[in-house]
Amino acid sequence: MFFRKRTFIENRFLKVMIVYDERTKAVAGDAFLKLLDQTNVQYETCKMQADHQGDVIADEKVLGQLLIEASIDVEAFVAIGAGTIHDVTRFVSYKMKTPFISIPTAPSVDWFNSMGAPIVQNGVKVTFQTQAPIAVFADIDVLMSAPKSMVAAGFGDVLGKVTSLFDWQFGYIVKGEPFCPVVFEATEQALISCVENVDFIAEGQEKGIKVLMEALILSGLAMLLFGKSHPASGAEHHLSHYWEMEFLKEGRKQLLHGAKVGAATIVIASLYKKYLNYSFTGDGIIASENEAKIKKLLQGLIEPTKLQDLINRVGGKTTPADLGISQRIVDNSLQEAHLLRERYTLLYYNNVYKKETL
Ligand SMILES: [Zn+2]
Repeated sequence: MFFRKRTFIENRFLKVMIVYDERTKAVAGDAFLKLLDQTNVQYETCKMQADHQGDVIADEKVLGQLLIEASIDVEAFVAIGAGTIHDVTRFVSYKMKTPFISIPTAPSVDWFNSMGAPIVQNGVKVTFQTQAPIAVFADIDVLMSAPKSMVAAGFGDVLGKVTSLFDWQFGYIVKGEPFCPVVFEATEQALISCVENVDFIAEGQEKGIKVLMEALILSGLAMLLFGKSHPASGAEHHLSHYWEMEFLKEGRKQLLHGAKVGAATIVIASLYKKYLNYSFTGDGIIASENEAKIKKLLQGLIEPTKLQDLINRVGGKTTPADLGISQRIVDNSLQEAHLLRERYTLLYYNNVYKKETL
């Protein structure tokens, strides 16, 4: 088993709160509790309540559940699950000034080890900067038992770095947004390793799942080092957040974060490639000496057809329509998603200064 009893003993945690849901309790939670029973560490458990559609949403209700169920003398939280369990645990543990430990049960998102907690507040998704876990224990056997759709989602979240890294450089060149070459290279390395090992990931082989999880951790670490989400989140994530909020408004069952990001990356890359034939010179926004730099970045963007092929190979969905997202929502998101975050992306530029359409 992945968990070392020493970790608690070394840190002298005498009382911990274990957070999971129905599924993650079965895949890792029960085994973890058995290990804890062999120590003198006391524990409480909180099984997150799913909504009527079977989703656990990181909203006021679920946050309230954990706050109510956690005793004031809990010394550490343990998140056993995927993204949402981590969001809730990260937020509540931070508010209680208590550390938390991460045990991912699927290689599905890249923020297990970051500080950002995306929370749904009054139906709107807001990312709060809270705290990173003090440790992450990712067990390969648990990860390999994750549903294929969650593996595909993790791959989609990594593939989103194609456009997020483009947007980060674009914002840096055009608006002087903060930039760090070391963080850029780490995130790019996460992307490259997944693209190179796509077939191992698609087959669910140990090698592939390990590469994917390491890429997700590396991307999360890059965000943690940088202190902001620029490396890992550009216009493709803004589209994904927009779609998610539309689904919440409509009361529809949620889609996996990475599944949306993967399809959104293809949409954004297709839009951005149109700028290869566009002259930025003379728009009064982009200095003429920067035109060549931007064109070079655009040429380096992976072709949308290649992105489709990669997502197809891992069994993911390549279009919003395949995910059940209507053309109306897609069109609206392309017009409005740039307003969700203060980030100078090419989508932002497109909507404010130039109106390319798909
Ligand atoms: Zn993401």
